[in-house]
Amino acid sequence: MTTLYSSLDEIKRDLQSNRVTVEGLVKGYLARAKEYKHLNAYNEVFEQEALSRSKEIDAKIKAGTAGRLAGMVIALKDNICYKDHKVSASSKILDGFTSIYSSTIVERLLAEDAIIIGRCSCDEFAMGGGNENSYYGPVKNYADATRVPGGSSGGSAVAVQAGMCHAAIGTDTGGSVRQPASFCGLVGLKPTYGSISRHGIIAYASSFDQVGPLTRSVEDAALLLEIMGGADEYDSTLAQKPVPQYEKQLKSDTSKKKVAYIQEALSSPGVDDEVKTTLVKYIDKLREEGHTVKPVAFEFLDYIVPTYYILAMAEASSNLARYDGVHYGYRSPEAVDLLTTYKRSRSEGFGTEVKRRIMLGTFVLSAGYYDAYYAKAQKVRRLIKEKTDALLQEYDFILIPTAPEPAFPIGRKEKDPTVMYLYDIFTVQASLAGVPAISLPVGDTSKGLPIGLQLLTKRFAEQDLLNFAKYFVEL
Ligand code: GLN
Repeated sequence: MTTLYSSLDEIKRDLQSNRVTVEGLVKGYLARAKEYKHLNAYNEVFEQEALSRSKEIDAKIKAGTAGRLAGMVIALKDNICYKDHKVSASSKILDGFTSIYSSTIVERLLAEDAIIIGRCSCDEFAMGGGNENSYYGPVKNYADATRVPGGSSGGSAVAVQAGMCHAAIGTDTGGSVRQPASFCGLVGLKPTYGSISRHGIIAYASSFDQVGPLTRSVEDAALLLEIMGGADEYDSTLAQKPVPQYEKQLKSDTSKKKVAYIQEALSSPGVDDEVKTTLVKYIDKLREEGHTVKPVAFEFLDYIVPTYYILAMAEASSNLARYDGVHYGYRSPEAVDLLTTYKRSRSEGFGTEVKRRIMLGTFVLSAGYYDAYYAKAQKVRRLIKEKTDALLQEYDFILIPTAPEPAFPIGRKEKDPTVMYLYDIFTVQASLAGVPAISLPVGDTSKGLPIGLQLLTKRFAEQDLLNFAKYFVEL
């Protein structure tokens, strides 16, 4: 039976005292990956490679030359490039495609001696919130295999949740790290836009996409942010400031804070009762501890989902133009000339949700509709950002649920896709505003389904966010 460690620190302690080896850890994760194969978390497990690397890392530890992530076994969402490894974005259109270079984050993780154990399923091109949109079939939640793990980084979340790796890396465009973390009882961090390089990450909506860790502890989230973050000559949207030592400076922050919660989270009929009671429980706990917690109205709440989807789809339609049947992966066998190569390859290679978004994105960018939709959505984004910033001037943190409900049943088909989009109501605010947000595991429903609450704070105030998060999970 493998021990499921909550942090790398605990692993290091056992490595130091020779109670475990990295090889032993890897074998344990691999055994569990086989045992829980039916959950469909991995698109591919790098079994031999992880095993041989584990021996190298054990030797490095003995020699005292190991990096800071020695002992950490990580799974990657399958939209993160790793040289000489396949990458598919869980799409047929990339079937068989192999990365010709590594993303910056992979290089940084490997440089610190992390082991990458496999690539995890996700919604196709990270579009979705249940990991049901993968070409390779739905992923199942370890807490209840009839339910989704959340999405789009659902495979990454389940790989950690079921102990098939220690931590995972996902991407979060409108909630794809935070929401699966909340459905699977994990910590999920979306850092400030511009914190972590997007070089080598398959683009969905570039003005929102951020890499983020899915972990069992706030400590590991801090460490991974520190190692992956910081300037990179291949991504000009990154902040140039030095990365703080997030993990070293991590300490449970007990000082008295001002916390705002969005009052609709408690009044809206769309929010599950157990999610509401959990939020109320934490509001009460914070008040008992002497913090100021106040309800606030967010007047743009009704606009945040449409604004996000107009902009994300517009960006996606542009980003996904490169999959043309010529450059990457899949080409239709029916293709006979240039036009049929494009048309047939894209029609056969993309799934329904991706095609819907490409078409809607193309529509909102087209002449005649650009001003009515795209330009207007940009303006509303600005208003949402300004309002969020103003709230965060007055309050230290915003506290909201991560998702309006816990993990929902697989196959709950919404006839209207916009109903599905509305489930993103609490995650897209941070994405539109570019501020950091963390989802924290705060207990289970009566049916044993994990619930997550989310904290948001000011841009680049990750240290404050992590320190308060550490306090919050111990409340
Ligand atoms: N559910 C949202 C969407 O479908 C967010 C996805 C993400 O963050 N990648 O766009």
